[in-house]
Amino acid sequence: MNKSLRKAVIAGNWKMNKTPAETTELINSIKPLVKDADCDVVVCVPYVDLFAALDAVKGSDIKVGAENCHWANSGAFTGEISADMLKAIGVPYVIIGHSERRQYFGETDNTVHDRVRAALDAGLTIILCVGERLEERESNITMEIIGAQVKIALAGVSAEELSNIIIAYEPVWAIGTGRTATADQAEEVNGKIRELIASLYSQEDADKTVVQYGGSMNAKNAAELLSKPDVDGGLIGGASLKAPDFAAIVEAASK
Ligand code: PEP
Repeated sequence: MNKSLRKAVIAGNWKMNKTPAETTELINSIKPLVKDADCDVVVCVPYVDLFAALDAVKGSDIKVGAENCHWANSGAFTGEISADMLKAIGVPYVIIGHSERRQYFGETDNTVHDRVRAALDAGLTIILCVGERLEERESNITMEIIGAQVKIALAGVSAEELSNIIIAYEPVWAIGTGRTATADQAEEVNGKIRELIASLYSQEDADKTVVQYGGSMNAKNAAELLSKPDVDGGLIGGASLKAPDFAAIVEAASK
C-alpha cells in the first residue's frame, strides 16, 4: 500500500449552518489559512450558500460541494436539487449518503446508489459516506454493514468512474458526538474498505481510491488519525465551521 499514490482530501460538511453572507465571511477567513495546503480542500455547503461559496473561493484552490443531490435529472420532485443543476452552476463535489440523510430523511442503500449514478453521469466528484451504527459495531457486524453499503452504492460503477468517488468512513456513533474513533479503529475499517475495493476492481484501483475518515475529527486529533496509512483525509462537520480549526486539520493533512 502506498499512500503517495493518493492526495489527501479535507472536506468540510457545513450541514444546515451559515447564511450566504456568513458563507462569504467564513471562506474569506479560511482562504489565507489554507493557501499552502498540500492536500485538496473542499467546503460542502447548503444549497442556498453555493453561489456565495463559488464566488468566495475564487483565487484559491478551495473547491465547493453540495451536501446531497437527487437521483433524477429533473421532474416532479418538489424541493429537490439534481446533480445536473449542481453541475450547471459550477459545483464540482457532492456528498452522498451522509448518515444524517440516512437517519432523518429515509435515505437507503438503494437511493444512495441511484444518487451516485446521477452524480457520476453529471460529472461530479462524489464523497460517498458509509458507516456503522453503534449497535452494529457492538454486534461485530461493522464490515458486513459497510461492505453492503459500498457494494450497493458502487454497483455498475466502472473502474474509470471510481476515480471520481471518494469514500468517507463515518462511524455513525462518532458523528457530532465528540466521540472519535481511535486512529486504529479508523485505520482498520479504512483498510478493509480498500481491500473490498481491490476485490471489486483491482489493487491498483484500490491504491488510488481516497478513503477519508469522518466523525468528530478536530484540530487536536487530526494528526494522529491522518498519520495512518489508509486514512486519506477527513470529512469534517463541527470543526469545519471554525476557520482556525479547519485550517489546522488541513495543515495536519499536508504533512
Ligand atoms: C460529518 O458531518 O460528516 C461529521 C463528521 O461531523 P462531525 O465532524 O461534527 O462529527
